[in-house]
Order: sequence, then structure tokens, then C-alpha cells
Amino acid sequence: MADSVQSTHPPATPTQPAPIKTQCPYCGVGCGLEVVPIQSDNASAQATAHWKVRGDRAHPSSLGMVCVKGATILESIDKDRLLYPMLRDRLDEPFRQVSWDEALEAITVRIQAALETEGPDALCMYGSGQFLTEDYYTAQKLWKGCLQSNHFDANSRLCMSSAVSGYVQSLGADGPPCCYEDLEQTDCAFLIGTNTAECHPIVFNRLRKHHKQNAAVKMVVVDPRRTPTAEAADLHLPIRPGTDIDLMNGIAYLLLEWGYADQRFIQDHTEQFEAFQSVVAHYPPAAVAERCGILQADLEQAARYWAEAQRVLSMWSMGVNQSSEGTAKVRSIINLHLLTGQIGQPGAGPFSLTGQPNAMGGREAGGLSHLLPGYRFIHNAQHRAEVESFWGFPAGQIAPQPGRTVWDMILGLERCEVQLFWIAATNPLVSLPDLERVKAALKRSPFTIYQDAYYPTETSAYAHLLLPAGQWSEKTGTMTNSERRVTLCEAFQSPPGEAREDWAIFAEVGRRLGFAEKFPFQSATEVHQEFVQITRDRPCDMTGMSHQRLLQDGPLQWPCTLESDCPPPKRLYTQRKFQTPSGRAQFAAYHSRGLAEPPDDAYPYIFTTGRLYGHWHTQTRTGRIPKIQQMHPHPFLEIHPRDAKRLNIAQDDWVEVRSRRGSAQFPAIVTESIAPGTVFAPMHWGSLWANQAEVNAVMHPEACPDSKQPELKACAVQLIPLALTNTVQAERAIALG
Ligand code: SF4
Repeated sequence: MADSVQSTHPPATPTQPAPIKTQCPYCGVGCGLEVVPIQSDNASAQATAHWKVRGDRAHPSSLGMVCVKGATILESIDKDRLLYPMLRDRLDEPFRQVSWDEALEAITVRIQAALETEGPDALCMYGSGQFLTEDYYTAQKLWKGCLQSNHFDANSRLCMSSAVSGYVQSLGADGPPCCYEDLEQTDCAFLIGTNTAECHPIVFNRLRKHHKQNAAVKMVVVDPRRTPTAEAADLHLPIRPGTDIDLMNGIAYLLLEWGYADQRFIQDHTEQFEAFQSVVAHYPPAAVAERCGILQADLEQAARYWAEAQRVLSMWSMGVNQSSEGTAKVRSIINLHLLTGQIGQPGAGPFSLTGQPNAMGGREAGGLSHLLPGYRFIHNAQHRAEVESFWGFPAGQIAPQPGRTVWDMILGLERCEVQLFWIAATNPLVSLPDLERVKAALKRSPFTIYQDAYYPTETSAYAHLLLPAGQWSEKTGTMTNSERRVTLCEAFQSPPGEAREDWAIFAEVGRRLGFAEKFPFQSATEVHQEFVQITRDRPCDMTGMSHQRLLQDGPLQWPCTLESDCPPPKRLYTQRKFQTPSGRAQFAAYHSRGLAEPPDDAYPYIFTTGRLYGHWHTQTRTGRIPKIQQMHPHPFLEIHPRDAKRLNIAQDDWVEVRSRRGSAQFPAIVTESIAPGTVFAPMHWGSLWANQAEVNAVMHPEACPDSKQPELKACAVQLIPLALTNTVQAERAIALG
């Protein structure tokens, strides 16, 4: 599935310009790209800059490989761009083009009015892992520092916040401990809640190659679907949705019973083991297999693989994080590593695979509503004081309460508590749960700013002010990938029309609001220089990095403290010293609570969603690329033959998926890839790209109590075969090609 494109380019010659090095702006694998101008005899053609992209063989994360998204990225850059600021007073009016001066004046007037009447709580900003770190950092300084509003959240809330809270609670700090070299050094890969082959293709390519070449290396995949990832596994455990913790406690039970616990590691480097052990005692294999819906022999085989391996590497993504018990699931994975001492060594450890290209950079810059830059927390008085001092504000400037998560922002709009809602580089009118409720809330917003590269998107229909943003290729800055590796992404062309860099927009608003001395930046390089200083002595210390060093030395992992500290360490916790106050990792004792909305008599099926190989999230880019459109032309619903027979559904019949909140309609694919009782649809189709195929119209917003990450992966639904009129069937057949 992951048909990677291996770089075959010749080395630069004196007549060829040096390639521009950058990072793919899609997923958190963070593959290195090289961009080169297409040679032409036509000087004027060269002046309009035509480019081609290829994998960067020198990039340590991807070694020259790219998937179809990275290989086609240039095809989306000049399509449907938002070129000018546009303003309207009401959502039912057309936009009118305005100058930047008028747009910025509208923002500052609205912010000042909100501050005077309601205070900082009326200001909300929702950003994105598509931001560069420099964008994130400038937004934090403006929002949490200058405006005293902690209501900045990012789409990482939908993606990785359970991994963040799991790492923090178990290991004392955020930050995946592993590196991609571990993919080639493990002898047992345990993949749970991740369709790596489709969603993180180059990580999967590296792992799959190692797996194929070494018969002793085992791969276990835990997923309710038989995905391309599961197809490659030695053992596929198609557990019932919501039984992940049962499974991991069941594996722990067997490891303890068989004597595979690393007692020395547990004694010297962990705490809370007894509480964990007493919970695990309730998970004997027969009961666990029954609850998970798998064979006991398969459960025991998974535990046997784990027990006999010297180096277990576990990987997960949204299937674990997007859960009402997401933090507990992450901590249950980490428990297994602590139980067996499999952390901080080559080929072993818990490794979250990040969704967005710079969600990691967002975490480093404090880009969630409970965070501050440098892996600091708003609830921590010392952390607030450090940031206030660094930014030159008086003590008490930063509000002590964490801000609203994005879902709380929606609730705030419902209650008319939010006066200004600023959305940037994300498309929440596709990606948030309970979409009809979100749409109704946005209609009540007094003033919504939407800052994006593209127009239209599903979200632009709900905005009062549109701000054109420069995107990848048009702005310089840094991104951090899943292995904590920071890549400098150089601009190689100008933004179209009047589009501006995100950080520059935030800085200009700050200056116009009277904070000119806080935003002296003339370039992203200057923003980065300030940002790395705020990471000093923090777990994500990057004081040894600069744009210049990244340009010279190439991508670097953190921690990276000094010019002499080269290369930086590849893994965290190699000394078995954790970031907790005691220096010990913390076991967690969790019983499984299952799904927030389990199936019942009225809604008897579980609806689960996921991503496809070619598309990226809400299709803002990939929907505009013909090759990818041809690869995945329309949405669909996977249903098991047993359920299809019971409901009299045949291949390609249309089915309505209906929950307590909303519905969506899909043509059926009858397949044994999905377990009986569960149906699956991809999440990529918003209202711009298909009729009534929005999976998040169906999903609920129930979230993990610790990470506040919504359970976007499962809800209870009815399945209703549709007897469509002949006209509608004909229209849909045309739409399906
Ligand atoms: S694997 Fe991810 S980062 Fe790499 S080319 Fe594909 S989309 Fe881009």
C-alpha cells in the first residue's frame, strides 16, 4: 500500500542550483523533501518558478522515501487559494474584498471591544498542527501573554492530546522516547490503534522492510479492521472497539504469571507497581479473550511474542488517542514497557505516531489550552512565572486557569460567552464531532476570523473575516516530527496575492494592540531565536538549535542544548531517569470502562472511522490533486457479510448510518475486513466533496477526562438501507464515476 517513491536524483552539479531542503507538510512522520527548480531554456518560464519535489536521501527520518502525498504536494499549492482579506457583517451576506489595513483594524476593534465588555474569556483562538513552530509561538505570546486569554487550542486536541497526558502522567514529561532507527532494531513491533501502512506510510515501510528481512522479528497488530497494516502482521488481534485496556491488562497478567516482569527495573525505576498488579489480577486470559472477542490462544501468542522479545517497540495513533479513556489506554501501553523494562534502549519503547506534521512543535511551543511554551503547564505557578519573566510581563499576567478546549469553545459560542473566535490553518467544520451542533454554534458567533491558505473550505462559510495565509513553500520555519527531529522548512516562492505568514499576522495584531515591544520580529529566524531560549533547561531544550545550524547541519533531534552537543541523543530515558519528581516512572492502574456510547437495542452497531492512504484529513489539499482523487474517488461504508445479509444490503447499496446526533450516507462495501457488529467509513469527506457523507455528523463529543480528547473513533448507530429514487441513484452513480 505504501508505494514509496525512492529518491533517484543525481547529485547537484555546478550548473544546477542546490536543492531547497524542507519537510513534507502532511503527516507526523516528517519526511525530508528536496525541491528543485525545473530547468528551462525559457527565462520567463523560470521567472514564474516551476518546481519538482523528491525525497531527501540525507534526511535521517525518511532516507529519501516519500509517499503519494509528499510526492504530489506541489500540485495543490496553487489551487483555490485565498488571495485577499475578505469581510462581511453577517453570514448570509457575500464577502467583500478589503485591504489588510481594514482587516487588521476590524480585528483590533473587535478584540478591544470584547476585552472592555467581557474580558479575555471572550477571546478564543483555534490553531493547527499545520502551523510552523514560529507561528505557534507567536500566537501563544499574543493570546496567553498579551491578551491574558488561555483560550488557545489546536487540532492536536483531536489527535495527540491523550499521548501528551499519558506521557506526562507516566514518564513525567511529554515527548516520544524513541527514534525511527528503533524501527530497524526492534524484534517485536506491537501496533495498536494505528493503520500505519496507510496513515504513516514511511514509518511502515521502514518497519516492514526490517520485518521481511528478519524472520525472527514479530509484528502484532491490534485493530478491529483487517487493515493493510494488519495484513502484514504475524498476528492480528481484531478486538472489539473499546476493549484495548482489557487486552493490555490481559497481556500484563500473562507476563506476570509467566515470570517475565523485570523486577530489577520495577524496583529501581518505577512507582505504583502494587496498585497496577492488583488491577491486573482481575484480567485472566479466558475472561479477557471473551471481552475482546478474540481467541484465548491469540491473546497468549501476543503475550508470548512480548515475553520472548528482547526489544519491544509499541506504536499507536488515533485508534488509541481518540477515546474517552485515551489517557488510560496510553498509560496501559506504557505499563507493559515498565513491566518488562523495555524503554530507553535501542529498538524498544512506547512510540506515539503523531498525526499532523508539526503537532510536536505545537506541544513544544505550548499550543494547547493547558500548556505554555517549553513543555510548561498553565496550572503550575512556577511555570507561569518563568514565562511571564521571559516575556517581560508583570507577575500574574498569565491567567492561572487552563483555557477552553476547542469543544469548550463551541459550548462557549452556544452560551454567547465568546465574542471573537479566530480559526487558523484547520477545518473544524469537518473535523469536530457532532457537526450539526458545531454549525449551529458557529452561526451564533458574533465575529469569526478564518485564516487559511485555501478558499472555499467548509469552515469559510461560517466566517465573517477571511485572512489569506501563506503556506508550506511560501514561508520559512521549523517543524518537529514524531521522533523529536526538527527540520528547517525553507520558503522557495512568494505567497500568492496578499497572503501573509501566520506568525507575521499574529505579530502585527499584537503591535496594533499596543504590544509593539513584544513583537520586534523581522523574520521567522528572529522568532525562532527567541523561542529556543524559552526551552532552556526544559525536557525539550532546543537552545543548541538555530535556523542557521539546521541549515548547516540538517535536521536535529531534541534535547539539543549546545553547539558541542552533537549529535543530540537519539532516545530519551537511556539512563532510566524519568522526569517525575522522584525520577521514577509511574505505573497506572486502570480498569477498562469501554466505549462512552456502547451499542444498544436502539443503536445496535458500532461506527468507527479512519484515514485512507492518499487523502489528508479534510481534503483541503488532497481533494484538489487529480491523482489522489482517482485513487480514492468517493466515501464508502465497510460492513461485514453477516450484518449485510441480516439487513439485506448488497455491494454498492446505499446505507444510512444514523446516530442520536445525525446521519451520513454511503455506498456499502461488503467485506470480512471489518468485524461483525462494527462498520467503518473514512473521515475525509466534508460537505465540499460529497453529499451527506460527513462521519462527524454522527460522532459524539464525549472526551477523555484527562486529555479532553473526543472519542472520534466510535459511537452507536443504526444502519438503514436506502431505497433511493431512480433519479438520486443515477446522480450518485455519476458522482461515483
Ligand atoms: S509519510 Fe507522511 S511525511 Fe512522509 S511523505 Fe507521506 S505524508 Fe509526507
